[in-house]
This record gives sequence, C-alpha cells and structure tokens, in this order.
Amino acid sequence: MCEFCTKHGEGKKWYLQVKNYTDELLHEDISASKKDTIKATSRLEWTNRFWQAFMMPAISGLSSQVRPFAAETLEEEMVEHFGQVLPIEDVERVIELVDSITRFPCGCRFITTGKTDKRYCFGIATDKWGGLGRFPDSASSLEVLSKEEAKKIFRKYDEEGLMHSIWTGVTPYIVGICNCDRDCAAYRGYIEKTGTPSFFRAEYICQVDWDLCTGCKSCMSQCQFGAQFYSSALCKVHIDPNRCFGCGVCRTACPEGAITLLPRKDILEVAELWLKNAPG
Ligand code: SF4
Ligand code: SF4
Ligand code: SF4
Repeated sequence: MCEFCTKHGEGKKWYLQVKNYTDELLHEDISASKKDTIKATSRLEWTNRFWQAFMMPAISGLSSQVRPFAAETLEEEMVEHFGQVLPIEDVERVIELVDSITRFPCGCRFITTGKTDKRYCFGIATDKWGGLGRFPDSASSLEVLSKEEAKKIFRKYDEEGLMHSIWTGVTPYIVGICNCDRDCAAYRGYIEKTGTPSFFRAEYICQVDWDLCTGCKSCMSQCQFGAQFYSSALCKVHIDPNRCFGCGVCRTACPEGAITLLPRKDILEVAELWLKNAPG
C-alpha cells in the first residue's frame, strides 16, 4: 500500500476510508506547518481558493489572478494537493462511499486547451457544505449526478482510454476524481516533462496473458504511460511493470480478456514503485 494508505487508510486503501470524505475532517484544525505550506488557515479556506482560482476560470473563461496552489516541493504537494491513479473498480467503490457527486469543467483543460466546456472533473461531497453556492455564476456549468449516472459516465471515459485519478485538498481530505490524458496539467508536468510527481501510481498493475493475447494491438492506443510494447516475432503485447501506472484502461479495450489487473504488492519488482517516473 502507498504512503497515504499507511498514514491515512487505517488498514484500508486511503481513498476507501470514509473519514477522508467527512465534514469533520474538512473543518478540523490543521497544524501551523500545514497552514504555512498551503498558505491558508483551514481546509475550507483552501478549498474555496481552489474553486475560485482553478475551477471558476474553466467555467468563466477568465484567467484568475489568484494562484491556486502554494506548494512547490514534492513534500509540500503531498500535503496540499496530491493524487493517485485509480482503476474503474475503485472509482465505483468511491462513488458508493460518497453522498454527493458534482461534475464540472476541467481546470487543466482550460489551461492547456482554452476550452471551458470539458466536464471531466467530478467533485466529491462538494455540495454537502454548500461550497458551490458561493459561486452562483457557476450553476449552469455544474451537474449534480446520481451514483448510477456518475458510474455510467466513468465507464464511458474508461472505454475512451481516459485514466482516472483521485485528489486531495489538504491531505487526506478528498476533493475529487478526474479523467485525464495529456491535456492534464499534472500529467504534462510529471509524465511528459519528467518533472515532479503529482500523483501515486495505482495500487495495482496490469499483466498480459500470452495464452490469450492475439496480438491485435487494440490495447496499445489506450496507454497514456508508454508501458506497452509489441513483439512482431511473437505477435504479443508486453506490459513493462516499471512503466505501468495500473490505470487499467488497456484492459477495457482488450477483446480477448487477456489483460488482468493485479495488486501491486504481489509483483515484487514494483511493489514499492509509487512515484518514480518511467525510465527515459
Ligand atoms: S486532473 Fe484531469 S480532470 Fe482534473 S483538472 Fe486536471 S485534466 Fe482535468
Ligand atoms: S499498461 Fe498500465 S499504465 Fe498502460 S494502460 Fe495498461 S494499466 Fe494503464
Ligand atoms: S488488446 Fe488484448 S489481445 Fe489485443 S494485443 Fe492487447 S492484450 Fe493482446
């Protein structure tokens, strides 16, 4: 299990621990060092700034003068706003846990493409405390979804090859689940430019069963992490465990059911590989 599970999971995966979604945690006093790192006095204040500076521009099309994130180092990012890749099964487990799911336009895609109507972000439990009500101009861009509606949309994104990730707003409080590709600012900085990591790899990893693989290559167009290699000699696809982030979207594309998601802890070679970027 990753560092967040150890610190915040109490025996479960950290994002399956209900207390990490609660109002109590949102309103809990935070330490002086955390306040200094996030440049806010509480999680609620941080969340309001996040909404104002990162999400509202994606709705209004107007860039914000406010800086959404204060953290600069990896350690600070892990305190302020950090993510983890999730396969679709765990997305659905999270949806079952929470009591409010709101879909809204994607802040990253506004930054990277200028588009304001790309609703790939899902706020979790956001509406419980009326946060969105503070920004009445945003109402027309928000969709409050039922669990079934949310699951259906996530399944569709999974088929399209968008990898899912879950994010904190002052760790371990959880603010949302995202659906990303290279238009994601976090992905670009970390994966494409091999910069500072901003999310953990999943608690899982994918493997191909060569007895089932027909070499059709359908899976290869889905991988955002360059983890798949095709052997013309064998007519098989191989997944490099050192590159695989365990998102599972390749598995969804395989018509033969040849790709399996395994617990990361069972693959010794990568059992503790959470942050390092793929080699060159
Ligand atoms: S993490 Fe993904 S879905 Fe979330 S804001 Fe960035 S690109 Fe959009
Ligand atoms: S090989 Fe790994 S990282 Fe690539 S799509 Fe499959 S599960 Fe995701
Ligand atoms: S989609 Fe499945 S059968 Fe086709 S190459 Fe990939 S693993 Fe093999």
